[in-house]
Amino acid sequence: MPVVDVDGLTFTYASGTAPAVRDLCFSIDRGEIFGFLGPNGAGKSTTQKLLIGLLRGYLGTVSILGRDLADCEADYYERIGVSFELPNHYLRLTGLENLSYFRALYRGETRQPEALLEMVGLGDDGERLVAEYSKGMKTRLGVARALLNDPQLIFLDEPTVGLDPVSRRRIRDLIREMKEVGRTVFLTTHDMTVADELCDRVAFIVNGEIQVVQSPHDLKLAHGARTVVMEYDLDGRPGRREFPLDGLGADADFLSLLREAAVHTLHSQETTLEDVFLRVTGHGLR
Ligand code: ADP
Ligand code: MG
Repeated sequence: MPVVDVDGLTFTYASGTAPAVRDLCFSIDRGEIFGFLGPNGAGKSTTQKLLIGLLRGYLGTVSILGRDLADCEADYYERIGVSFELPNHYLRLTGLENLSYFRALYRGETRQPEALLEMVGLGDDGERLVAEYSKGMKTRLGVARALLNDPQLIFLDEPTVGLDPVSRRRIRDLIREMKEVGRTVFLTTHDMTVADELCDRVAFIVNGEIQVVQSPHDLKLAHGARTVVMEYDLDGRPGRREFPLDGLGADADFLSLLREAAVHTLHSQETTLEDVFLRVTGHGLR
């Protein structure tokens, strides 16, 4: 049984004329990292807010951890962890005080705030006021908070946005570790590199609609234009040509250039998930 099962999810904000998300269908298995990818305004955060019960009044059916979302009560929050795109911490409390406060709201077992701060790279900042934290530090504190109750299912909304490369890698590794211990992760992002490295499957969402759900690997195989680019001099004239990687060994033009030209550079061009996104949806990510 999937951990998350969404069928025909449609939602319109009270102030909106058109649905912010429309007819979403997907399911997420236990232990899966599921990426929700799309440009700003695509409906990613709306979807997360629906799945965590923050927005109500949707159409369609949503079943999470074996129960219909419509029937979920307060104990749902004992079993999930959530980090928000714009973290809502108490600015006049320290990082440690924030975690201790939220920790006390749980009835079940919880993890040590000190250890969680260490895990997100805030081990030395626990005693500082959150008002003094940078945006990236607040995001990381949000991720730590999401893990307080050691949840089965974790929702992370843009957990790597605005992070420096070291912090970004740390959050990436942390998400990977969660998967290794059997947790399920719903990861919202427009960071294609992180999505490519982490996600078992990704959904491409544009204008509130899912265009495709597949593994990054299969997407790149299906939509990738793998080529090799050669720069050379032939008879004293510089040239540049691109050849398909497939069938390269039998490509007469390529082989004759190899033999006869002075080759300066030879580079294979792998497809990125970002290229595939553009090709499949016709939209850029920014
Ligand atoms: P994303 O997280 O993918 O950037 P959002 O889910 O935040 O996108 O937004 C999806 C759409 O819903 C956008 O058109 C946005 O303007 C609209 N929207 C988001 N929040 C609200 C709100 N509280 N009220 C009305 N419209 C909203
Ligand atoms: Mg968002």
